[in-house]
Parts: sequence; C-alpha cells; structure tokens
Amino acid sequence: MQHHLYLSDTYLDETTTTPLATGQAEDGRPWVALTDNIFHPQGGGQPNDTGTLNGHPVRIRRHADLVLLEPHDTHHQPHTDGQPDTSARCNTNGQHDTDHPLATGWSDTNDPLGSGGRPETGDARQSGNGRWAGFPTQGPMIARIDLETRKLHAALHTAGHLLDAYLGRHGFQHTGNSHFPGQARVDYNIGDHTVDRAALTEQLHTHFTHTIAAALKVTTQTHHGLRQVTIEDLDTQNCAGTHVTNLSALRDVSIRAIKVKAGLMKVGYTAAHI
Ligand SMILES: [Zn+2]
Repeated sequence: MQHHLYLSDTYLDETTTTPLATGQAEDGRPWVALTDNIFHPQGGGQPNDTGTLNGHPVRIRRHADLVLLEPHDTHHQPHTDGQPDTSARCNTNGQHDTDHPLATGWSDTNDPLGSGGRPETGDARQSGNGRWAGFPTQGPMIARIDLETRKLHAALHTAGHLLDAYLGRHGFQHTGNSHFPGQARVDYNIGDHTVDRAALTEQLHTHFTHTIAAALKVTTQTHHGLRQVTIEDLDTQNCAGTHVTNLSALRDVSIRAIKVKAGLMKVGYTAAHI
C-alpha cells in the first residue's frame, strides 16, 4: 500500500523512501511507485506537483490507487534546445479557461486516486541502457517536490474553497472548479437568476478580507471513510487536494472576473501563498 504523505502534510517537500512497485510503459519509459509518496497527482481541478527523484525531474501520473513517477522529457526532447520542457507542467501564462477540464468536485473520487486497471509491469531494471538511463528504480531514493509550486497550488485550492463557502451559503449551486494558476475559477448553475457582478465582487472581497484576517484554521479529517477539509466555522467539503493550514497563509486573494452566460456563472479568482 502506498502512503500518500501529501494528504497529511502540505509542506513536506522531501522524503527518503523505497520503491513499492516498478515497471515499464509501452514506450520503454520506466516508472516507479514510491512507498511514501509526496507527489500530488493532477485531480479535483488541482494540477500535479513538480519535482525530482534522486535529482531526476519526474512527471507524475496516477494509475489505480498508485501515483507513478516517470522520467520527465526535459533531457530527451531535442525541440527543447536544452530548455526545460514545460508541456507537462501546470500553465501559468493565461491559457484559455478551457485548456484544462473542470473537475465537478473538489476531488475526482472519494478515494483520492480513483480506480482503474493495473499499470504495466515490465522490468524497469532493463531500461538502464536506453534513453531513460539513470532513472532510479531500485534502492533507497530521495523524492523532492518544488515547494513553491506546491504552496501556490495549495493557496489557489484553498481560496477556491473560501470563495465557494460564501457562494454556497448564498444559494449558488456549485458545478465545477479548476485551481490551475492563471485560470482558477469556480462555476455555478444560476438558472434564471440575475447577478450584480460588481456587488458580488465587492461582497467576496469583503469575505476574503475578514476570513483571512481572522486566521481561520484549515483542517482535514476522515468521516465515514471520506477525507474532508474544513475551514474553521465556515465550510466542510469532501476533498483530496492540498490546502494551507491557516487562511493567514493566503495573500492577494481577489476576484479576477465574474462571467454570466446561459445560466452559468464562472467566478475567476487569483490567490498566492505568503
Ligand atoms: Zn480542497
């Protein structure tokens, strides 16, 4: 069983662990599932982490109940001309909102890692003589995530909950969310209702100011087998993402746009971590 340490500690950015399982994808790319996993895979509207395994940049995917690490293409794709390949990373440059599918909830499933078949189980040790040479698949290894990226993701995710706590209390029906940097938003079904966007923006900013100044705690707990996140005195949701532990860790939380069309309200927002 893989232990997903990111669920209990948002700020754990390094761990020494061992492989739980290894294998090889059809293209020969090795993968490793670590016994103690600190990498958040994309899901629930939250992008995946970035990081390294023994210094090798990894790309992260999930398969069944496992988070798999594979060698990132950074060192192997000639078109990058030595520049980091950002294709597998979260967007930070204002791509259109639809570039990433919205999650309908705060987590893809109640189990944070979803379901599916087993990963390929070829012998990854045979990959050492190919283009993925050097990618670790045996012995103790050091996993690291980029903590600044994690903190940004956690801030955006938590701000999404904070926004939703206000709108949910005011009768808006949540239909989807994305927490990608530069395009974070929460969507609501508003039916035939009209919205005063300027007034709502002001109300949300007041809500952000008061709750962040109050330094409300953000905690997680398991309830009937489901992981829940609670903003103190405000809101509880089933969620498998990463969050700040106190709203005082948030800064620059603001509404960037409210769009209303065909019964759907899209509330775009920004947030950062202190
Ligand atoms: Zn969450």
